[in-house]
Amino acid sequence: LFVSFEGIDGSGKSTQARMLHDHLASEGHEAILTREPGGSPGAEEIRALVLNGAPDRWSPETELLLFTAARRDHLERTVRPALEAGRTVICDRFADSTRMYQGLRGPGLRASVDALHDLMIAQEPDLTILIDIDAETGLARAIERGGEGRFEAFGGEMQQRMRDGFLALAKEFAGRFAVIDGARAPDAVAADVRAAVMARLG
Ligand code: C5P
Repeated sequence: LFVSFEGIDGSGKSTQARMLHDHLASEGHEAILTREPGGSPGAEEIRALVLNGAPDRWSPETELLLFTAARRDHLERTVRPALEAGRTVICDRFADSTRMYQGLRGPGLRASVDALHDLMIAQEPDLTILIDIDAETGLARAIERGGEGRFEAFGGEMQQRMRDGFLALAKEFAGRFAVIDGARAPDAVAADVRAAVMARLG
């Protein structure tokens, strides 16, 4: 089973991905926890190139190519080998993040995202868990954490666009999305995540 977690910065998706992984592992289920951008040595190097540079270091098109290259390496070296070995793969962000963050960086970019995805990735998760949270709460959490968030400087407006965009994606790919309210205590969110995964595992 291939499960991805998506959500805006500060949604709590990384915490939830970790909690799901720990839960499955405690039940003796073979699962790996990985992330994007990154998740393989080469892709982690690309992550540093993109996230540590100035925000305008790469054009939107070049950034899209770098994220796609990172995903391809992650898929080849980490995700596919694990799936082929029968493991559950839990991935903190996958292609839906690119549909959002790179796809919304300019007019027409979503079409480029989709074309590159079809050409070079052509894989979707079996289940995508969208941890949904309002833009203000997400931003406040991201700032409090002082993490690598790239969009704090843009304030709540960008967060709002991304939240709306993720909810639209959940409708576009309704068959594989589960939308979970992230504005609650971590344990309550985790219980819903487990229920969604169990429904898929059968
Ligand atoms: O999920 P994580 O916090 O590790 O993401 C790091 C940063 O990279 C975040 O600010 C996220 O919004 C951004 N990002 C991006 N494009 C992606 C994935 C993540 O701009 N495809």
